Amino acid sequence: MYKFVSVALDVPVNKLFDYRCTHVNAKVGSRVVVPFGRSIRIGIIVKFFDNVDRKGSYEIKDIQELLDHTPTLSSELLKTSRWASNYYHYPLGQVLFSALTPIKRKNKPEPKSKYEHSEILKPDSLVLNDEQFKVAKSINKNINKYQVNYIQGVTGSGKTEIYTYLTSSLLEENAQVLILVPEINLTPQTVARFQKYMTTKPIEYHSHLTPTQKFRVCQACREEEKLVVIGTRSAVFLPFKNLKLIVVDEEHDQSYKQNEKFKYNARDISIVRAKNFNCPVILGSATPSFESLHNINIKKYKQYKLLNRFHKSKMPLITIVDTSVDKPDEGLSKTLKDKMKSELGKNKKIILFIGRRGFSNTVLCSECKTIVKCPKCNTIMTYHKNVERLICHQCEFSQNFESVKTCCENPSLVPLGVGTQRLENKVKELFPNKRVLRIDSDNISSKKDLTSFIESATNNKIDIFVGTQMIVKGHDFPNISLVGIINIDAGLYSTDFRGLEKTGQLITQVSGRAGRQKSQGNVIIQTNNPKHSLLLKILKEGYEEFSKVALKERESVNLPPYSHIGIINISAANRFKPKSLLAEIVKFKKNKSVFVYGPSPAETFKKNNTYSYQIIVGSKSHKLLSEHITRIKLYLASIDSKIKWYIDIDPTQ
Ligand code: ADP
Ligand code: ZN
Repeated sequence: MYKFVSVALDVPVNKLFDYRCTHVNAKVGSRVVVPFGRSIRIGIIVKFFDNVDRKGSYEIKDIQELLDHTPTLSSELLKTSRWASNYYHYPLGQVLFSALTPIKRKNKPEPKSKYEHSEILKPDSLVLNDEQFKVAKSINKNINKYQVNYIQGVTGSGKTEIYTYLTSSLLEENAQVLILVPEINLTPQTVARFQKYMTTKPIEYHSHLTPTQKFRVCQACREEEKLVVIGTRSAVFLPFKNLKLIVVDEEHDQSYKQNEKFKYNARDISIVRAKNFNCPVILGSATPSFESLHNINIKKYKQYKLLNRFHKSKMPLITIVDTSVDKPDEGLSKTLKDKMKSELGKNKKIILFIGRRGFSNTVLCSECKTIVKCPKCNTIMTYHKNVERLICHQCEFSQNFESVKTCCENPSLVPLGVGTQRLENKVKELFPNKRVLRIDSDNISSKKDLTSFIESATNNKIDIFVGTQMIVKGHDFPNISLVGIINIDAGLYSTDFRGLEKTGQLITQVSGRAGRQKSQGNVIIQTNNPKHSLLLKILKEGYEEFSKVALKERESVNLPPYSHIGIINISAANRFKPKSLLAEIVKFKKNKSVFVYGPSPAETFKKNNTYSYQIIVGSKSHKLLSEHITRIKLYLASIDSKIKWYIDIDPTQ
């Protein structure tokens, strides 16, 4: 008797392919080899059906080979992937293949060796303080069912110890636990903090593992009832069989969003997976994302607070430097330089933080302190570095620096943001005897760089760290007494609607790096606008009060978390094509609760001689947004294949 199956393939089309299957052992989730056009490919069975169901009259081909007797993908992972495919408007086949390890994606011999667990450790005993214990106890009450718990704890409050405590107690009754961290360089330190108190050594999972290592971790997740995985965003797709808890640490971090190809957010996928496993999730941060704050407000997430630092160290002393008075030289004001000198004299360490990349798209006149706005429609103009022009995203008026007329006689225009390299050079010139390390994604890219960076940082080998966002994330470097934020203005005036949110998070997180042990640390923030009301709000009243005001602003313009949005991006060699296609799409009939902005030039407007434009589609109702995007997707599937497009749901950049 033949059976018929729908197979998902790793191809960029939104459909499944039907084959006849004679293999008795074939199951949903099994990989098969199938003929496809003139090639043969690996696919995954996602459905069985009777011949009568089959529509279309093309000739159905046979499956050539069955690769798995036990399915590679569990029904749970298939369910999660289906959700992700629908939600992110990304083909199911490609979602499923991104959940497979490289070895499973190809028909390659599988390594025989298993994941080797290291020796049983003799753990320290973990004693939580009262505040931590209350939170742990409360979460523990509902540890056996789905629930999103949010631990909002000030920097240094010891959220990690709560995760460890709950994980250890779950492990006693055989459980799999997944801990997500935003950045690969945080895995070693998180592993160390967990294993200090546990008899099970956590397994690491991230992009620096070899295909064989990844394969072994997957096997372990598939076979072992009891394990802890600490990993970066891709770990959210590991083939767990007995998952009892997911932790998403530093939940607000943008790194949980993948910005290439399959544009998912691992935090949101983890919530779906937890629901499918009927287990709890813990999200944690000192600076919750606005989405999460909203979900806390509407009682979708359960909130727990930690108000005190574990070591009782004081929050740092924050000083604002008005850069229009104390003018920076290559990024450094006199106040900051003097403070650096005195701290270095006491053998203390310093972090200099430079605004996030992508923030430097606003141009400021340093004379009259105005942001360059479009003369036609008064929106802030965006500086596109690669074409060296300012472009208005509203009306597309564009100009170069020379033709900008600001309100003063001699405009001195600067794109907000100094580069890390320039700052590094300046610091080396000023302090030739000090050891300086630049940390950014250009400089730290391999596992080796990372290991040596962490080694030198924790062993007091570096005096001054100069870096981008990589530096801020949860690192616990000893002896940091001063943090300088070089250019907060780039964040305050960003054209990105999340600019303020990110800036608030940044100030709070960066400040958390200073003076973590006994002594009080110092933070120096340089700004051209020391009276900025939200900047003052965050400094005086903290992130939470700041977020209330900033959230109101979001609500008034109907942006997330008060609506759901998606970006449709089209690029082509012909400069006019993307724009005209998008103009067509804008005209699509839509429900009146759906709004569309654009077309406007995309963030990377011109790259390799192709031009990109985008529109933003949004709605208060995710369902309506999704339906509208489905219509757009159908249209996009029919256009010339030379024209590239993508859809980005819940974009973060
Ligand atoms: P968080 O986990 O909230 O980010 P941090 O890592 O910033 O907290 O700082 C917490 C510090 O306090 C760490 O050095 C951690 O080792 C220590 N700590 C927290 N809780 C405990 C505990 N229960 N026992 C021992 N040390 C703890
Ligand atoms: Zn304009």
